[in-house]
Amino acid sequence: MAKLTFHGGIHPYDGKDLSKDKPMKEIIPRGEMVYPLSQHIGAPAVPIVTKGDHVLVGQKIAEAGGFVSAPIYATVSGIVKTIEPRRVVTGDMVNSIIVDNDQQFEEVTYISHDVDTLSKEEIIHLIQEAGVVGMGGAGFPTHVKLSPKEPEKIDYVIANCAECEPYLTSDYRRMIEEPEKVVNGLKIVLKLFEHARGILAVEDNKPDCIEILKKLTKDEPNISVKALQTKYPQGAERQLIYATTGRAIHSGMLPADAGCIVDNVDTIVAIYHAVTEGKPLMNRIVTVTGNAINDPRNFYVRIGMNYHDLIEEAGGLKTEPEKVVSGGPMMGIALFDLNVPTTKTASALLCLTKDEVSAMEPSACINCGRCVEVCPGRVVPKKLAVCAERHEEEEFVANHGMECCECGCCSYICPAKRQLTQSIKSMRKMVLAKKKK
Ligand code: SF4
Ligand code: SF4
Repeated sequence: MAKLTFHGGIHPYDGKDLSKDKPMKEIIPRGEMVYPLSQHIGAPAVPIVTKGDHVLVGQKIAEAGGFVSAPIYATVSGIVKTIEPRRVVTGDMVNSIIVDNDQQFEEVTYISHDVDTLSKEEIIHLIQEAGVVGMGGAGFPTHVKLSPKEPEKIDYVIANCAECEPYLTSDYRRMIEEPEKVVNGLKIVLKLFEHARGILAVEDNKPDCIEILKKLTKDEPNISVKALQTKYPQGAERQLIYATTGRAIHSGMLPADAGCIVDNVDTIVAIYHAVTEGKPLMNRIVTVTGNAINDPRNFYVRIGMNYHDLIEEAGGLKTEPEKVVSGGPMMGIALFDLNVPTTKTASALLCLTKDEVSAMEPSACINCGRCVEVCPGRVVPKKLAVCAERHEEEEFVANHGMECCECGCCSYICPAKRQLTQSIKSMRKMVLAKKKK
């Protein structure tokens, strides 16, 4: 049988062996904690604490700033030191609540629930109140995603277990160590859509996860485990929907328009905690890896912790990294300052050596066509990059520039090392910003 996949894509070195076989480890935070008010798509959260307030673990410290927004919770106990702009991974200064950690970890009391007694509205409210957002990178508030206009038209709820980005193994560890939470979280989402079937979509380089999830769902006729061809970007929303359901969506559509809801593994587990245990989103799993790290592995990290502390917990640096990236090597953000906090969307911290980073300078296009062959968006990257460099916005849109999912395949494959994705990404940002006005 043909493997489930999509058009285009690449097979980069995956670097997953560095961290995949080590169990997850919890980090106990020591220093001050920084909570940016904007760590999701939508309106920034609004502080409900002031300087000098004492806060507990699990206490709400910022209210959602609107429907498309999310509240923020303290992940340590201590005193609010100040509220001021702090640098985040994008390099921007974002207004943040700073808490002096008192090392006591005094916690609020959570109210657990029997899922079977909850209405759909109550489930969505619990997810909204817990501040759950898409933890695969986008940070879109989950309660909004789970409230499509026509919920009866949702046919599939897809758990994105692909983890196609090289080096990242946090979803893998979650599926190995806590698979019940993944399956139970998916079952909660399925309660919201009575006509939908659940799909656990896993790349076939994780046969152990496929086996565990199949065993756990053998008596769940409404849930299937689908093995996908291992290929980047198999976990991108559009590519995943196409591979698992055969339905195609374009940039003007939402997954719900194609009858699909997609949530990644960590988000689904956060939904499980929010609904069954009444726990807000306070931590996530972060892969700290790369050949410049002494002990690459996955950590349970409390949101708000400084990136320096993550590196320290991973045994520190064994050599000066050539490049430090927040997120995966394909879609992550290169960092110039490690003094930034872990947020709800921080999936990984990579410290890469010279050998791991291609050192070649960009040169002229040799018209080899490889960027076109690998592009899952079926566009012509070299043409779009030229439009972007020349600021030809109309031409860019006419050449379907908005269908690019910013996967990075074209830059990766280009023998001339042209920074295609970077140029296309900047132009897309500009077009989207103009549309919003
Ligand atoms: S143009 Fe966009 S979608 Fe196509 S390969 Fe490049 S980054 Fe990926
Ligand atoms: S892969 Fe690079 S060199 Fe080849 S056509 Fe595309 S931009 Fe030009």
